[in-house]
Amino acid sequence: TEAQLQLWDWMTAYYMCNEGEVMAAALPTGLKLASETIIVLKEDAAYNEMRFTDKEQIIIAAFKNRPRLTIDDVSALLGQKTVYPIINSLLDKGLIYIAEEVIEKYKPLLKSFLSLQPFYKDEANLKPLFTVLERAPKQMDAFLAFLKLSRQQEVISKQQLLEESNCGAAALKALIDKEIFKVYKKPVSRLNENSDDLIANFELSPAQLAALTQIENGFDVKDVVLLHGITASGKTQIYIKLIERAIEKGGQVLFLLPEIALTTQIVERIQRYFGDAIGVYHSKFNNNERVEIWNKVLNGTYRVVLGARSAVFLPFKELKLIVVDEEHESSYKQHDPAPRYQARDTAVYLAHLHTAKIVLGSATPSVESYFNAKAGKYELVTLNERYGGVELPLQEVISIAEETKKKKMVSYFTSKLIDEITLTLENKEQVILFQNRRGYATILICATCGYAPKCVNCDVSLTYHKTSGKLHCHYCGYHQSSINICPACGSVHIEQKGFGTERVEEELSLIFPEARIARLDVDSTRTKNGLQQIISEFQNKKTDILIGTQMVAKGLDFDNVTLIGVINADTLLNYPDFRAFERSYQLLAQVAGRAGRRDKQGKVIIQAYADDHRIITQVIDNKYQEMYAEELAERKQFNYPPFTRLIFINIRHKDHDVLNVASQQFATALRMQLGKRVLGPEQPLVSRIRNYYIKQVIIKSDKDTSIQKVKSVLREIILQFQSEKEFRGANIQVDVDPY
Ligand code: ADP
Ligand code: ZN
Ligand code: ZN
Repeated sequence: TEAQLQLWDWMTAYYMCNEGEVMAAALPTGLKLASETIIVLKEDAAYNEMRFTDKEQIIIAAFKNRPRLTIDDVSALLGQKTVYPIINSLLDKGLIYIAEEVIEKYKPLLKSFLSLQPFYKDEANLKPLFTVLERAPKQMDAFLAFLKLSRQQEVISKQQLLEESNCGAAALKALIDKEIFKVYKKPVSRLNENSDDLIANFELSPAQLAALTQIENGFDVKDVVLLHGITASGKTQIYIKLIERAIEKGGQVLFLLPEIALTTQIVERIQRYFGDAIGVYHSKFNNNERVEIWNKVLNGTYRVVLGARSAVFLPFKELKLIVVDEEHESSYKQHDPAPRYQARDTAVYLAHLHTAKIVLGSATPSVESYFNAKAGKYELVTLNERYGGVELPLQEVISIAEETKKKKMVSYFTSKLIDEITLTLENKEQVILFQNRRGYATILICATCGYAPKCVNCDVSLTYHKTSGKLHCHYCGYHQSSINICPACGSVHIEQKGFGTERVEEELSLIFPEARIARLDVDSTRTKNGLQQIISEFQNKKTDILIGTQMVAKGLDFDNVTLIGVINADTLLNYPDFRAFERSYQLLAQVAGRAGRRDKQGKVIIQAYADDHRIITQVIDNKYQEMYAEELAERKQFNYPPFTRLIFINIRHKDHDVLNVASQQFATALRMQLGKRVLGPEQPLVSRIRNYYIKQVIIKSDKDTSIQKVKSVLREIILQFQSEKEFRGANIQVDVDPY
């Protein structure tokens, strides 16, 4: 659509990337050239006057017999897999075009189903069949599996039978050849749609109603409203009312969530309310599913789309409202590959393109958004009470150092935390424990010589995972078996330093052998339904304690959780980034917000060495404004956003020395034109990833300088740099508004 093209243009310019990169991020691969894509010969093409390569001629000749070819056909004709360059060249020459119905083709997705030949439905006729199959055990397996399944359901797909019976495709084919099974095809929706459009009835509380009215009044004067509502204040219910009204006016709504997988609860709540008019869009979906959603947004079937960041690319026609839930979340920023966009900021621009309204919601707004609200750019609406009048949890910090001195630590747990866990379990209530590191031990280190195993591709130490018994790199995925003997000195004294969720889980199960414990982190949720299972088992009270990384801090809503424990808050606070304090506040306040959400006040125990850190005090006293004011003062003093704009330029090369020279020259060239706004080259925190050495040049531009001018200078210098032979092989990544 026109609006989509405009958005792509804006992104290309703002985030300094290629239009192709934006397109690659925006379009489901199914809408790019897929193997089923049909190409058609143009009737009026003047191909007698053109020159073609041999391969092109083969394709043109094939068109004599049939007017349409698929990419697969072309592949077969040429006997090779990569045909895009040739297709592209023919497209460029204006000789062929891509058939319009290609998109249509994706709509009905045909799946094979099986049915038993009616003849065999008669018991008497089944008996001889069993004797026949006796000598073919695999086929018998498949057949029995079919009978079993057919007792539970009407239609059985081929796929399902294969999974159920452990028979191979060959056995199935034999049964079909013997005309025992009949195959038929039937279009199915791949989307697991919730068709019961049960309308959940609810009324807003007076406080929610007041906030809703303020938001709507705010929309009269501003396009953007920031809803600052504490955890469990019932923001979702307010969004539902806003969505409802936008739909009534004939509009479409985009509801952005930081990570859709973690927010199934919200998705379910909204889906239950709006039924079939809702589409869900995120990167875990396959191509066909994405194309299907794309089309349903385009033709207006979907009035509301719930999506992760890439949903900003959908072809909305009548977009009237955007909701950005948990607007402070860092996962709205795409790091790699380009476009390195911030979906929240992009959504603000998208709303502007559609003259739609946008509400950003959070219990812990980003400093940037709150600043914009205070500056009058956004309308600010505040909701300061929890729904149902539940009190915010009681929070307490316990000094790990003190407890250690008093010898009161049991493994990683203070006596206070252990007492509270015991009490909570006795009350048949649930516990969430937060440790922001996965794996077992952070590093292994030789006690004799200090050797610590490092990744072969990256400049980082490997993390020990006990479940796999391996050492893993969290940057590139490299892993190797663990070590018992130091490869440097032969010593057997290998120590474990630091600890992650795996270790916390193990230690806890020793202290509470009766408790049912589950772990929520990237490792425990790798399988397709792993995450769903862990969350639903906890929701259904089949587990008592959930230990997790920051995944447990995100939007979860359990009614029986009354205790939250933060195992070690220091790792967050010590992170070397100018947003470390802000993010610590957000994470701690959000994880605390999972406690006591319904009718009973919850409790939060924060364990830390830095127990008097101002951020911890502010979290405990719910002093968001104070945190904001102090952060802002620091940002001002040290020239950080929102007072400046940052652009990070990462220069990468396989050769360390070439990189040094290249990055130095690059920075110098940039500095000649932009002066002291240019910092570096510096060594980033991790200075080698996947065998590429990295140097970073930073542009810190104050608000008075035109950012357009800065970007055009940068663009020019990059072009110049890329044309220099000696730096070939250097790779430049630009990150505008890095996060
Ligand atoms: P937030 O998103 O602000 O953290 P939620 O929207 O998850 O808060 O609300 C917290 C809990 O209160 C949820 O379980 C929700 O179902 C319930 N709730 C909120 N508002 C209402 C309402 N108006 N009627 C009934 N239940 C509500
Ligand atoms: Zn050693
Ligand atoms: Zn690595």
